[in-house]
Amino acid sequence: QPTVGVLALQGDVREHQRMLAAVGAQSTPVRTPAELDAVDALVLPGGESTTMWRLARTFGLLEPLRRRVAAGMPAYGSCAGMIMLADRIEGGVTGQETVGGMDITVRRNAFGRQVDSFEADVDFPALREPERPLHAVFIRAPWVEKVGDGVEVLARATGSDVDASAEKRASARIVAVRQGRLLATSFHPELTADARVHALFLDIVKEA
Ligand code: GLN
Repeated sequence: QPTVGVLALQGDVREHQRMLAAVGAQSTPVRTPAELDAVDALVLPGGESTTMWRLARTFGLLEPLRRRVAAGMPAYGSCAGMIMLADRIEGGVTGQETVGGMDITVRRNAFGRQVDSFEADVDFPALREPERPLHAVFIRAPWVEKVGDGVEVLARATGSDVDASAEKRASARIVAVRQGRLLATSFHPELTADARVHALFLDIVKEA
């Protein structure tokens, strides 16, 4: 039985632990390099990536996180956690660093001021019951601006600010990606009752 850590520097840690329990995974908060050593996989929660980055530096976790991810540890990032897993960010604060590992460029706070938060039903065919859309909650969410060759696009969404009917489909943004054992979503499945994204992550963890 693998143990899934949840990076507990800041953000919605408990919500992820609740979802992991719902899919039958054992989880534990991770705040120190020793705690990171003890887990088989890691969830990087939603929250605020600038704060998470600064705390990771302060706690001496940034380099250990980079090493574990580079060594193949499965990881799932939601929202701020997606930003943390991205190799490149746009709209970060000066000097903002990430853990990286995913060959993606994410744009912070991308959906715009008018739609700080919104909810949308997104098609996510990689999930169980693929025909059932996922109700996704976006809060000052990033989108994925560019993906490298090894990155699988799992879902797209349109923020209501770019609702120009005909352009709607064309303007849909990438909001879920997978690269090997790394998974990331712009939105927060941990704030809903639908545990299918966590179930997908647990499958990745068990395969690894
Ligand atoms: N905008 C936040 C950031 O840049 C992410 C928001 C979230 O995780 N809900 O980290």
